[in-house]
Amino acid sequence: MNLNLSNIRNFCIIAHIDHGKSTLADRFLELTNTIEKKNMHDQYLDTMGLEQERGITIKLQPVLMTYNFNNVSYNLNLIDTPGHTDFSYEVSRALSAVEGAILIVDAVKGVQAQTVFNFKKAKKQGLYIIPAVNKIDMPGADIIKVKEQIKKLTNSDYEILEISAKTGFGVKKLLERVIELVPQPKILLREQTTEQKSLIFDSSYDSFKGIIAYARIFSGIIKQGQKLILASNNRVFEVKEVGIFSPDLKPIKELKNGEIGYIATGIKEADVVKIGDSIISEGSVALLGFKEPNPNVFASFYPEEAGGFDLLKISLQKLKLSDPALSWENTESPMLGRGFRVGFLGKLHLEIVGERLKRELDSNVILGSPMVAYKVNGSIITSPNNFPDNTKGYEIQEPWVKISIFATQKYLGDVMKLFENIDNKYIDLEYLDYDSILLKYEIPLSVIITENFFDRLKSATSGFASADYEFIEYRKSNAQKLSLLVAGDLVDAFSTIVKADKAYKIGKIKVEKLKKILPMQQFTVSIQAISQGNIIARADVSARRKDVTAPLYGGDVTRKNKLLEKQKKGKKRLKLFGKVKIPKEVFSKMI
Ligand code: GDP
Ligand code: MG
Repeated sequence: MNLNLSNIRNFCIIAHIDHGKSTLADRFLELTNTIEKKNMHDQYLDTMGLEQERGITIKLQPVLMTYNFNNVSYNLNLIDTPGHTDFSYEVSRALSAVEGAILIVDAVKGVQAQTVFNFKKAKKQGLYIIPAVNKIDMPGADIIKVKEQIKKLTNSDYEILEISAKTGFGVKKLLERVIELVPQPKILLREQTTEQKSLIFDSSYDSFKGIIAYARIFSGIIKQGQKLILASNNRVFEVKEVGIFSPDLKPIKELKNGEIGYIATGIKEADVVKIGDSIISEGSVALLGFKEPNPNVFASFYPEEAGGFDLLKISLQKLKLSDPALSWENTESPMLGRGFRVGFLGKLHLEIVGERLKRELDSNVILGSPMVAYKVNGSIITSPNNFPDNTKGYEIQEPWVKISIFATQKYLGDVMKLFENIDNKYIDLEYLDYDSILLKYEIPLSVIITENFFDRLKSATSGFASADYEFIEYRKSNAQKLSLLVAGDLVDAFSTIVKADKAYKIGKIKVEKLKKILPMQQFTVSIQAISQGNIIARADVSARRKDVTAPLYGGDVTRKNKLLEKQKKGKKRLKLFGKVKIPKEVFSKMI
């Protein structure tokens, strides 16, 4: 591995979801013999079980490939990235570790939401961009049109390659273009080259080697045994091992500036090794990290089994090592016990974290209903429990986002219709070519999070539209709290925040649903929905009547009556002292 900087290229692949990033990475792995043919499988870099199952990339994944070009051996560090908006923080981090990006666009679908967003990000980062049209083998491929779109998007005369990641057509040429066009790694040139500076862009955990920092080395040479420092907290650690991504972790002797690799820190406590932090030597200054994203969706997690709290906490900490966007605080519910209020970057993020936790814990977690953050008299509120029961006299604000929707002209009407019944501000309509449109609106984030806007967009356009959104600001909101009382007791886990005009309808739906799934009790249980201090819906679950007279046959009426009398009294006692037992499945089903 004695290479000059001029023989190293660091790059990533960016695109809209499903445009073929991971498949292209597969071809690169084959072409460079990084993975033996017999071990190869589709979307090789989607290493998480969940990624393989769902066919989506959730995490960035680095890999080092070697390739001979014009009799020179090159080390190519590729980082595969996810495409979905919720995981754009993964993309940002990958971009900060490389000098170039391949931007691929599906020849059938054309430029879509994340194509634009990821391109802009890469551009801002100063990366060299190599655009390519992918899937040219597909029957519906419209290469000329898509090239026009790319030209318009990039506003330049980049050569646009034509490839098929599936058949491998054009892939060799593309990889060679990376070598020719992507600049060699930038390093921080200083007189004293002993200075250490590396940027941590991801991490994982190993029970022997501790937290493993995935790093881009910007200055210095890192070896086992060195004492280095984490810039943000001055924690000194001894390097346990350094290595490369093959894509499995593979130890090597040293990592040099310009390279991408891993550094095993030996540190086992959570929260010490932070993504975005720098690993430096004594007296050195940190590199510029990246802005951490703010979570905008919140939900509570409760362990299903009593005593599962500590286990859940450890699992969350473990997840955070590879999902730095995750954040949480402790919470408590009278019914569900101790749990966590967790912040997410979007709905898919929440779903994925829930799923990963279940697998990690090998048990169920109860997930509260998601909500966006609200501002109540200027303070951020992330749980319905902290939201006023009656908003009178309070100033309530909610987050608004700018949503950009890509679609073809023929769906314009259907897309616009979706905005009819929601608060919105139309921004503009842009034509990307003769029939591709980019439609922009401002809407409350809650429409996306709690009103399934994306699902509605998908069905309105038969899956052809794509959308992306970015936060703008908090604006005045008529949101109010909707709570459920069961036998007169507030069940906090059922509380949600709703739009004023939807409170009545949602209240009714919730009451009816709970009525259906709540097991019968010994006495009649009333279920009420309240909002702004008023009861807005109500239903009763009738009592389970145990047939106490069943063992009696024959006609002793007085004895029968006596038993019934006794049962009545018992019921009264239960009503007075007893609480309604709500099984945990009911919570899972309700939320
Ligand atoms: P990613 O989300 O960008 O990583 O996309 P994937 O690599 O997971 O690919 C999404 C889907 O497109 C998969 O079913 C691939 O098999 C398919 N695909 C990728 N590239 C091509 C291609 O060049 N031609 C065809 N026909 N299908 C492709
Ligand atoms: Mg992928």
